[in-house]
Formats: sequence, C-alpha cells, structure tokens
Amino acid sequence: MFPGQSYRCDICRNISEKDIHIYGSDNFTVYAHPIPFNNGHIVIALNRHVNVRDAGQHVFSEGHSILSKFIGLVRRIYNPHGINIIIEEDHLAFHVVPRWVGDVSFISLVHGFKVVPQLPRDVARSFKENV
Ligand SMILES: [Zn+2]
Repeated sequence: MFPGQSYRCDICRNISEKDIHIYGSDNFTVYAHPIPFNNGHIVIALNRHVNVRDAGQHVFSEGHSILSKFIGLVRRIYNPHGINIIIEEDHLAFHVVPRWVGDVSFISLVHGFKVVPQLPRDVARSFKENV
C-alpha cells in the first residue's frame, strides 16, 4: 500500500460480487477468483475479515469441510493433474487452483502474467450446476 491510498481487502470486495458467487453458508462464501491463476480457480472465504489465527477451530473446521467438498468438485469438473491449496492469512480464505502438467505458458515466463481462457462467471456457473 502506498501513502494516500485507501486499503480495501480484495477478499472483502470479492465476496460482495454476486456474479462470481458459487456457494454460501452462514460463515463462508465460495466464489470464482476474478483474476484466476488457472482455469477453475476458486476461493472459499470467511464472510468476515478475520485473521486465520483468530478465526477459531470451529470456523476453521467448517472451512475445511467446504474445502474438501470443493476439491472433489474441482476434480470432477476439471479433471486436473493436481491442485494447489493456498491459505490467506489476513482474511481467512482457501484458494483452490487446479494444475495440469505443462500449464505454464511462455507468456507467463516472458511477461510475468498468465492468460486464462475461461471467464470467472463461467467458472461460477460450472460449479453452481454441480453443488
Ligand atoms: Zn477482508
């Protein structure tokens, strides 16, 4: 963050973007990441801005249960070779990123970013049809 900038958590913003929502419970929202690392990149985020260390075992366990369900859905829908799970610390969230052998393109290596051919709202639609 730079001086004079106001900070707004990306996860707090994303859980309010209804067109990328996939699933919701009292404590968690699942959404398609708007800037995906790969096809099928989803996020399971706590509905409140709470640090992973302060979330509590009961809430963390609920998140883990939803994570397990969506790992199964990612495997069924996308059939990846593997899955990366990333845990956000400042705002408890689990990223689920499907991976395939050779999925790093030359654009990523040369320009430092990746082109993903599936829109986040299409990812959300794929999951909604299977939840
Ligand atoms: Zn937040």
